[in-house]
Amino acid sequence: MVTLVAPDSPAQRAGVRVGDSVRSLNGVVPRDVIEWRLLADEPEVEMLVERQGFEVEIAVSKAAGQPLGAEVSSAVFDRVRTCDNHCAFCFIHQLPPGMRRSLYLKDDDYRLSFLYGNFTTLTRFTEADLERVIDEGLSPLNVSIHATDPDVRREMLRNRRGGMSLRWLRELLDAGIAVNGQIVVCPGVNDGSVLDDTLLGILDRFPELRHVAVVPLGTSRYNSESHMRPHTADEAAAVLAVVREWQEIFLAVLGRRMVFAADEYHLVANEPFPPSEHYEGFEMHEDGIGMVRTFEDEFHGRVDTVTAPRSGFFQWVDGAPAEGYRAPRNPAADTGLRGCSTSSTVTLRARRGAPVGILTGVYGERILAPLVADRADVRIVVVDNEFFGGNTAVAGLMTGADVSRVLAAQPSGQRYLLPDVCLSEGRFLDGLTLDDLPRPVEVVPTDGRSLRAALDGTT
Ligand code: SF4
Repeated sequence: MVTLVAPDSPAQRAGVRVGDSVRSLNGVVPRDVIEWRLLADEPEVEMLVERQGFEVEIAVSKAAGQPLGAEVSSAVFDRVRTCDNHCAFCFIHQLPPGMRRSLYLKDDDYRLSFLYGNFTTLTRFTEADLERVIDEGLSPLNVSIHATDPDVRREMLRNRRGGMSLRWLRELLDAGIAVNGQIVVCPGVNDGSVLDDTLLGILDRFPELRHVAVVPLGTSRYNSESHMRPHTADEAAAVLAVVREWQEIFLAVLGRRMVFAADEYHLVANEPFPPSEHYEGFEMHEDGIGMVRTFEDEFHGRVDTVTAPRSGFFQWVDGAPAEGYRAPRNPAADTGLRGCSTSSTVTLRARRGAPVGILTGVYGERILAPLVADRADVRIVVVDNEFFGGNTAVAGLMTGADVSRVLAAQPSGQRYLLPDVCLSEGRFLDGLTLDDLPRPVEVVPTDGRSLRAALDGTT
């Protein structure tokens, strides 16, 4: 379904309308936006659309490679390949009941890995998929490794194919596809000697991986797997020690550190963050690695560009981005309002000079508090995550219900800043919108420079 036709675009000039249901492009029924984009890149595009029950042919003429100017309602037009694993650590299994149906969809689809950076275990990957990835150059992809020992991996994914599916990773690397890896560490399952063995396995079998993110298990209060629990501070420190040791080995053998621990580990272990140079270009920023350092650098004006989160947990479910494959998903960030939702622009002008409350999660408070320590007019307003509970403490999983509860207890007449990372298409994960909040908030892109500008009133 066409959801947007850009003004003065080839699609608009040819007569494409919002609401048209696309049947084919140049006689081909595209399976997904990847194929759509390839077909739409042609200079002559014959579109067959259904409009109010009638089939309509539309001929579009444009330069080769010029965007069509029409966006569609979904990234995948056939069916999303769903995951047939049953990981005990799966966060989707730990969601509360009653959320949007789309949030419960477990995907294991290499196309969503390419489009949105989702991780795939490759347990449903096939020879035909490999051919397509190579032919269309679908690179980079993100692969969940968890363990290189086949028995441990099979056990963790609760899928007999989990023990074998990393053979596809070898094939992808052999074909020159760039791949990032991820290890979700579950205490007592794949930490300690198993993590050590996994990193050895990566060096031995998959040294071409671009980076490997080591991230901690997340739990909610709906977790029903009794052996799945958050790391203790000592366990987090032990993971950091293993990662540090292997970084030295990778650096000596490959000339790069390859493996990085999530920022969350440093917060749980209460250990300092490595310096910015350590992160080798912050390539794994979207996995929560190096975010604290980039945020600080941006806030203090030490870098020219920002590294804001571009995609996030669950964000792909709300449809294809308006521009490009891995584009920002938040209209407030996309429209040039930079820091304000439409409804709050007036509020910002009216209240400039008023005390400011920065809404953030428990982890965010620890990161932001030192940055604003010298600002008497700024305070951090911590939003405890009662909605998910467990060890959920990141700003990206703040829900409208929790933000509402906290805001209702705050004084009026002040400015409240909300990071855009907790919104997708203007909605919180629980479906609430900014209009449901008891006080106006200013939505600020989740990067240090934007926060600084919002505090200084220079947005
Ligand atoms: S592979 Fe991912 S989506 Fe599937 S069960 Fe495991 S954690 Fe959940």
